[in-house]
Amino acid sequence: MASQRKFFVGGNWKMNGTKSSIDGIVKFLNESCVDDKVEVVVAPPAIYLDYTRQAVNKKIGVAAQNCYKVASGAFTGDNSTAMIKDVGCEWVILGHSERRNVFGESDELVGEKVKHALEAGLQVIPCIGEKLEEREAGKTEEVVYRQMKAIIGNVTDWSRVVIAYEPVWAIGTGKTATPEQAQEVHDKLRKWLSANVTADVANSVRIIYGGSVSAGNCKDLGTKPDIDGFLVGGASLKPDFITIVKARS
Ligand code: PEP
Repeated sequence: MASQRKFFVGGNWKMNGTKSSIDGIVKFLNESCVDDKVEVVVAPPAIYLDYTRQAVNKKIGVAAQNCYKVASGAFTGDNSTAMIKDVGCEWVILGHSERRNVFGESDELVGEKVKHALEAGLQVIPCIGEKLEEREAGKTEEVVYRQMKAIIGNVTDWSRVVIAYEPVWAIGTGKTATPEQAQEVHDKLRKWLSANVTADVANSVRIIYGGSVSAGNCKDLGTKPDIDGFLVGGASLKPDFITIVKARS
């Protein structure tokens, strides 16, 4: 039986875009990605959050790609949850692999950010995932459980959380996890959540997959029972995103 969890597709634009290219993306989003059966959320760079939120259909959510762990202060270059909300955005991605691996964010910091963002009233997309050497060393479970452990104690409202499993070796590389590989980790995560949080949370929380999701592979990935949607990087900048949003339709 198909799960009751609503299919979720996020588009992470990373550090890409101009007002003019965003106009093009917004056009195809508004024309082709508004669908009551799918929750769609796009994440522009912080400087374009306001611009995007004003242009994109209200049924499509807008996420920041990151935020800091406190409300305001001397944190040059960072953005706060209050600012994200002030420009009308509803979501924040936290602990993306590029934040962890390029900017050195620790599990602990990601956990603190999750706590703060939820307390501030945002919906959060915490990202987890193993590196290639960790997978090859048979450490995938150990790594994702460790990352999850730093998150769960900071979650005060699971209905505002969507977990993104993104194996680092699959992000931006064109190497997608097979539907079986992704399903296996999603299933294990759900069992782990059942043992470490509650069976209810394990059953209701959406676990989405990210890592070179494309118009070509989204349908196969989307048939797996524990894959509740996608976090899409490169392909979210192109009309291919429409096909991905409709992967289950
Ligand atoms: C991402 O940025 O979260 C991502 C999964 O990127 P890509 O789809 O380009 O691999």
